[in-house]
Amino acid sequence: MAELWRGAPAAEALSLRASAQAEELRAAGITPTLAIVRVGERAEDLSYERGAVRRCEGTGVAVERFVLAQDAAQEELTDLLRRINGDRRIHGCLLLRPLPRQMDEKAVCAVLAPEKDIDGITPGSLAGVFTGSGAGFPPCTAQACMELLAHYGFDPAGKRAVVVGRSLVVGRPAAMLLMGQNATVTICHTKTANLAEECRRGDILLAAAGQPELIKAEHVRPGAVVLDVGIHSVDGKLTGDVESAAAEPVAGAITPVPGGVGAVTTCVLALHVIQAARRQNGLET
Ligand code: NAD
Repeated sequence: MAELWRGAPAAEALSLRASAQAEELRAAGITPTLAIVRVGERAEDLSYERGAVRRCEGTGVAVERFVLAQDAAQEELTDLLRRINGDRRIHGCLLLRPLPRQMDEKAVCAVLAPEKDIDGITPGSLAGVFTGSGAGFPPCTAQACMELLAHYGFDPAGKRAVVVGRSLVVGRPAAMLLMGQNATVTICHTKTANLAEECRRGDILLAAAGQPELIKAEHVRPGAVVLDVGIHSVDGKLTGDVESAAAEPVAGAITPVPGGVGAVTTCVLALHVIQAARRQNGLET
């Protein structure tokens, strides 16, 4: 039966680290500050925002919220992002997505200054993830997967990792981070032939397909580490991309939904804001 890799202990350790680093900055007269930008009132955005505010404020990271109406013009949002780019008090910016239909998300994201892009949404940050240059920041969710592996003492070096999902938010950057730690990586997507067979090669199986319970027992290599990034509300119950009851008897370790990867994501966010504040004040490169 799989070991349950809960996010809470990893989150606690990361929060302690964030608090200590924020304290150090505050002692130097710098208040690490995150801007949260939301367009409209989507329930998912509000829920993520609440979690992010709680975590940031709990670790000494200040938060400023900026809210635009659902029908706001794209220029209103890009003007706001430019103001945030130029505001020296703000070190990081979280733009809640998806944006409403009238906006070109790619064009909007590109406006944010890469040094304030703490969630890896700009081409500059993603280039850093893909080249391994360390510039910018990886998306928080992809980084949260790596933090879970580290917390539970699993070294990806030399292991086979299979990532299901190729989005720029999770799948692709997670694959690059795994490769950066010397795993041999396969990326699967909607056109992958025989998904179960591919998945079964993975010592690490990272599910980020956005499909409730896509991953069954037949997808899991016996003893594999299964990182379930998906989060879905099905009949009022939260579930992941993995059918946990089927996968647990086969896997070596599995992250629960809720309470797995998602619990670590906001800690990574707080740490990225702190790191951005340190970089912008010449305290690290
Ligand atoms: P997305 O829809 O943008 O991308 C899904 C990817 O999975 C696509 O690349 C697609 O090719 C692939 N895919 C879809 N169906 C597939 C199938 N049947 N077989 C193989 N590949 C398939 O989603 P996303 O933004 O990358 O998010 C993925 C999941 O992670 C979602 O459930 C989302 O809610 C969740 N998520 C969680 C967090 C968190 O903090 N836990 C953060 C962001 C996203």
